[in-house]
Amino acid sequence: MNSEEAETPLVKEARRIMEVCNSCRYCGGFCAVFPAMELRRSFSRGDLEYLSNLCHNCTSCFHACQYAPPQEFDINNPKIMAELRAETYEKYAWPAPLAKLFHRNGTVMSLIVAFSVMAVLILTFMLQNKNVIFSAYQGANSFYQIIPYNVMIGVPIVIMAFSVFALFMGVIRFARGTDWKMSEMMNPALVTRAIIDVLLLRYLGGAGDGCNYEDDTFSHKRRYFHQTLFFGFMLCVASTTAAAIYDHIFHWPAPYPLTSFPVVSGTLGGVGLLIGTSGLFWTKMKRDKRPLSESLLGMDISFMLVLFLTSLSGLLLLFMRENTMMGSLLILHLGLVAGLFITLPYSKFVHAIYRFAALVRYAGEKRSNPRGDGIV
Ligand code: SF4
Ligand code: SF4
Repeated sequence: MNSEEAETPLVKEARRIMEVCNSCRYCGGFCAVFPAMELRRSFSRGDLEYLSNLCHNCTSCFHACQYAPPQEFDINNPKIMAELRAETYEKYAWPAPLAKLFHRNGTVMSLIVAFSVMAVLILTFMLQNKNVIFSAYQGANSFYQIIPYNVMIGVPIVIMAFSVFALFMGVIRFARGTDWKMSEMMNPALVTRAIIDVLLLRYLGGAGDGCNYEDDTFSHKRRYFHQTLFFGFMLCVASTTAAAIYDHIFHWPAPYPLTSFPVVSGTLGGVGLLIGTSGLFWTKMKRDKRPLSESLLGMDISFMLVLFLTSLSGLLLLFMRENTMMGSLLILHLGLVAGLFITLPYSKFVHAIYRFAALVRYAGEKRSNPRGDGIV
């Protein structure tokens, strides 16, 4: 797999646009794509796939462009970059046969998540007396009255291990396919630079005033919602990790007090996910549709919906953990979490992984060409 493969119409169109942009260079201060583009005189397929994953679809270059449709040059960078990005998700997915899950991704993802919830329900009925689901439990180990300990621990470990490995293999394939040196990918200084850029969501600030979404007006809304979602997700990961350490190392079984670290971080994380997903959905619905790819809406919305429902069911479970709703909410929440993680390598989540990899590569390019990108 390399950049010499037969080229798709999308690759050819992305190259045409980059060649026009490289002559114009008006948008250099908006994001990392243009400074990275300016380092090149020609664009291989690998270059274009890398640049498309540096793009975060802010649409500022569309609103600034004097060659945007209906002008005859028809320069629509955000749309072509988004479609090419989606093509890379499928091309580099591991294992390759599962790349088909990116076709009609919204429907496929919804079906897998619904199936996961059903599977947890059926498994619970097979392992337990159905009356346990509708009984109230209190105190330590109450969750294990519904789902036995070995199942609650074993199944998520298998799913997580598969998802993490599939994502890791995907990014290795992406690096190879875009002719990127593996040594750079593992370089601690470049990885640290990219982590700082991600934590600050630096490039979502545009040239300082934010980005365009609805029209020519600049705004930081999308950046703030993105940041809320990101930190919400990280807090939920911290909560689950802490709960696993409490249970397996200290032998303190769940559920934990309301003031404990897993509950506080999980609650804040859940609220962050609810606000972040709702806000991003709201901004997406209000966005100017011309620079968007309608065919990718299903992928975006299904991922946000599953994240929203997972955090909502987790918060409801927290507040109803001592009444008769606990069993059904636990099954629903675990089913949603399982569905979310099974589909992680084949959902919009891969954007986070490939974009991070692209930022590491960009950090290396900036280090070798220290002119500054002028982006705040
Ligand atoms: S998007 Fe338009 S204005 Fe911006 S660099 Fe390309 S051609 Fe120039
Ligand atoms: S849409 Fe935004 S991130 Fe993508 S190339 Fe244009 S300015 Fe850069």
